[in-house]
Amino acid sequence: MNHKSAVLHAIHCVRRAALHILACAAMGACVAAAAGPAAAKPSGELRLYVLDCGTISAMDPALFGLTAGEVSREVTFITPCYLIVHPKGTLIWDVGQVPDQDVPDDGTEVVQQGILKAKRRLAPQLAALGFKPKDITYIAMSHYHADHTANANMFARSTWIVQQAEYDIMFSDAQVGIRMPDTYKDLKTARRITLNNADHDVFGDGTVIIKTAPGHTPGHQMLFLKLKKFGPLLLAGDLYHVPEERTLDRVPTFDFDAAMTRATRKRVDQFLEQTGATLWIQHDPPTYASLKKAPQFYD
Ligand SMILES: [Zn+2]
Repeated sequence: MNHKSAVLHAIHCVRRAALHILACAAMGACVAAAAGPAAAKPSGELRLYVLDCGTISAMDPALFGLTAGEVSREVTFITPCYLIVHPKGTLIWDVGQVPDQDVPDDGTEVVQQGILKAKRRLAPQLAALGFKPKDITYIAMSHYHADHTANANMFARSTWIVQQAEYDIMFSDAQVGIRMPDTYKDLKTARRITLNNADHDVFGDGTVIIKTAPGHTPGHQMLFLKLKKFGPLLLAGDLYHVPEERTLDRVPTFDFDAAMTRATRKRVDQFLEQTGATLWIQHDPPTYASLKKAPQFYD
């Protein structure tokens, strides 16, 4: 490019950016739009995006084996979803608690089942990063509880990574609590990688690993990431909900098997020590508050 055309090009770019800022300011959507698809194409490096899938109203600490005096704050939750972008494909980890079709996505908040709240749809958050649900290579959920499965049907064209024990309870005819089968029924016919209480190296290079972690539910699992800059990271699913479960050794009253949870937690502590991984308690609001949110990312 010669000097004149470089200058013209620069002017064109500045004008375009200015117009874009004006346009999106008018729509009140600058951050998402400015981050647009171009900014988010896979860079050849592993990336983790933290998405907003809602909040959960205050609950009785007794549900988590704690008294009000033992917790440092009201037991409210954040419910994130996570997108992992790898050079070989993508993985959506946990898919929210209110289905997109029930969220107006106009800034108003929906409340379902009395406590599950959401303001934003998941699909537009993916679109802002340049992805459509049908483009997502893999779907995995930490477990079947209703606050993790709301948009699972949206990913029926992805390959579903699930533990056999979790699959069995998800499609069991028995009365099962905290379950919304309608939200994931389309996964029944999806391509599937079924694990038998086992870990799974998603892209085959050791950077994205599903870790079996039974107890909270029969086939509960976690996600381990080896991020170049951030370092090793463990997304713990609902192995813990509030930090005091960890410090005071408490298990939620609604866990599938408390002894199994404790055995898993012990194994996870060893794993954290071996790897030096950071543990994120997914539902913990102070943890979430400290995180970079999409379109920012961890790499
Ligand atoms: Zn949960």
